[in-house]
Amino acid sequence: MAKITKINHIAILVSDLESPLNFWRDALGLELTQVEEVPGEQARIAFLPTGDSEIELVQPTTEDSGLARYLDKRGPGMHHICLEVDDIDGMLAQLKEKGIQLINEVAKVGSDGRRYAFVHPKSASGVMVELYELAK
Ligand code: ZN
Repeated sequence: MAKITKINHIAILVSDLESPLNFWRDALGLELTQVEEVPGEQARIAFLPTGDSEIELVQPTTEDSGLARYLDKRGPGMHHICLEVDDIDGMLAQLKEKGIQLINEVAKVGSDGRRYAFVHPKSASGVMVELYELAK
């Protein structure tokens, strides 16, 4: 059976990457290790490691993406939590079998080879859950 191994990151949706840093970096003292353009998600992401996991600040880079519409509707705030899994195909099959509503029925592949999929918040206590299987 597929197994969740840890929280990989928590993603927070923001309208710009600069102003939230007064809290996450300057007040909490987290280190901003990198900012990455992610054209596949039409977003720019700032990474702030917190030990074994990360806070990701996610800024939509276009007006009409799902992320941009979400930000328009609800304002900035927590967008999703990401759980690392040792076998994403096995986990997606397991969730489907249990009637869990998935946003991605098949895992997508990120630029670094990691595979990921989203579970619909309707099936997860109102929280969007991302699943990650890191590249081997
Ligand atoms: Zn994520």
